[in-house]
Amino acid sequence: MLQNWRRELLIVLPIGVIGALAGFWIDHPAVTLLSLFTLYFCWQLLQIHLLNAWQRSPKSAHPPFAVGIWGSIIELAEAKRERARKRKRKLGRILAGFHESTNALPDATVILDEKGRMEWWNDVARQVLGLDGKRDRNRSIVEIIPDSIFNAYLLEGDYVRPLQIPAPLDDSISLEVRIVPYGKGKCLLQARDITRLHQLETVRRDFVANVSHEMRTPLTVIHGYLEAIAESGDESRLGEWQHVVSQMRQQTDRMQRIVADLLMLSRLETQEQAVGHEQVNVAELLQSVREEACNLSGGKHRIHLKTEADLRLYGIESELESAFSNLAFNAVRYTPPGGSVAMHWYANGSKACFSIKDDGIGIEPEHIPRLTERFYRVDVGRSRQSGGTGLGLAIVKHVLTRHGSVLEIESEPGRGSLFSCTFPEYRVCRVKPEQRHLAVH
Ligand code: ADP
Repeated sequence: MLQNWRRELLIVLPIGVIGALAGFWIDHPAVTLLSLFTLYFCWQLLQIHLLNAWQRSPKSAHPPFAVGIWGSIIELAEAKRERARKRKRKLGRILAGFHESTNALPDATVILDEKGRMEWWNDVARQVLGLDGKRDRNRSIVEIIPDSIFNAYLLEGDYVRPLQIPAPLDDSISLEVRIVPYGKGKCLLQARDITRLHQLETVRRDFVANVSHEMRTPLTVIHGYLEAIAESGDESRLGEWQHVVSQMRQQTDRMQRIVADLLMLSRLETQEQAVGHEQVNVAELLQSVREEACNLSGGKHRIHLKTEADLRLYGIESELESAFSNLAFNAVRYTPPGGSVAMHWYANGSKACFSIKDDGIGIEPEHIPRLTERFYRVDVGRSRQSGGTGLGLAIVKHVLTRHGSVLEIESEPGRGSLFSCTFPEYRVCRVKPEQRHLAVH
């Protein structure tokens, strides 16, 4: 910096000396000095003008000729411009690499702004969602995917689980949509074609449903005959076969329960998400579940029920009954005689919750994540002995999913278990306040 000022002084000093000498020679030093410094001032103004014009010119324009301090300012500015050019080139390369890699992704990828408008997408998204660069930039994603379930999923903002929807251009294609939030309210939407997987899943479901259906009739016939034989009352004729018949009856009974549960599961899987027109009086429903649980217990357990009578749900009553009674029967079956079971139906803010707590045998933590899998049991012998099919919690999981909820399980071996679920606001309905009362049984 000092060096620059020295350079400038080397210009100013000679001007001053020459001006003074010339002035003394013509006897008017003030006039010559003033004229020379006016010229020097005009030169400075010209340099400022050139610098200003250069700053406004395109980045590639040549710098103006300058000496002294202006030369140094222009040098610095030119160096800064060069650094900015290099940075831009580098960012350009990174962006091109990013575009190339996201284009190479096998999934449709769309970047959404905080209002759900599409900012950028890759080639697969162009094909799968039928996007057009000019027409669709900044359009809302719900205009492109006008699916009501997708809309609700987007509004709810809970993106832990992916969503399966038909492709907007061709509903024979199944898409699995995943949304990843990032930055300030932005989202990355990924849609994967899972048509093949979906077809295989449909084949599997149909197979299970068909086998279960085909087995139901012969099983009913066999079970009916066995019942007739056992109840014919002629024990002397049955003789040693009596025990065999009783065993066969138990086994066909068990098979019938498995077939019924399998059919229920395939019904739950194949139907669309539960519609919410039916208003379910959960407090009343739980009352009858409690009575059935008391029958199963045979008076060996204390079974409590606490409900908010005005709190209802939009959903399918038969499905909810099946879910709640599976949970209640499990609580009874896995709690030794003398234990207690407590069911609770209550509001939590604008949501509704159901919980069932027992002080039974409890579950080791490693089993908890797998309990809702079909036929997964902690203790197969115990489950069979108590009349379990291994499908109860799988049914519960499906029913809850169809009603916008998930099953939460907390348990401690030897101390008991707590099964609970929360229903979202849009499923909840309140009847008039004067009808409200708290029921404790
Ligand atoms: P199951 O017909 O065998 O009861 P479920 O799907 O209903 O099948 O339950 C799966 C397994 O979860 C059961 O076999 C049991 O080991 C465990 N389980 C379910 N509920 C309870 C409970 N309340 N207490 C302890 N274990 C439970």
